[in-house]
Amino acid sequence: MKVHDHQLQVPGLRMTKQRKEVYRALMENQDHPSASELFDQMQDTESPMSLATVYNCLEAFVEHGAVKQVNIDREPSRYCQNSTPHAHFHEQETGTIHDINFKPGTSLSDILDLPEGTEISNLEITLKGKLPQ
Ligand SMILES: [Zn+2]
Repeated sequence: MKVHDHQLQVPGLRMTKQRKEVYRALMENQDHPSASELFDQMQDTESPMSLATVYNCLEAFVEHGAVKQVNIDREPSRYCQNSTPHAHFHEQETGTIHDINFKPGTSLSDILDLPEGTEISNLEITLKGKLPQ
């Protein structure tokens, strides 16, 4: 996927060159990479950065709500840049994480018994299992 420069924006966050590079790498890799996978992916760029820098950039994105941190069991955190509300499906055999969208027109209050007026600030749904082949 070709990522354009104007897409490399996080509201409220100053996008340094390094942050842009990490954000670009994350947009190009929709496969929920871990920080070290992103680090490996970026090694052939002209200015490779340290793993610590990659972590720092990711942390800033998560803090600003631009990136979701996905934690499964005790595995290293993975990162998701898809900003539409979705659940994660962790395929146990392959370890792959898939984005699963809500069916159009459904909201969480259709399936969860939430008190009226509840405001959801963060959505984290992870399912585990096996997808049909
Ligand atoms: Zn995701």
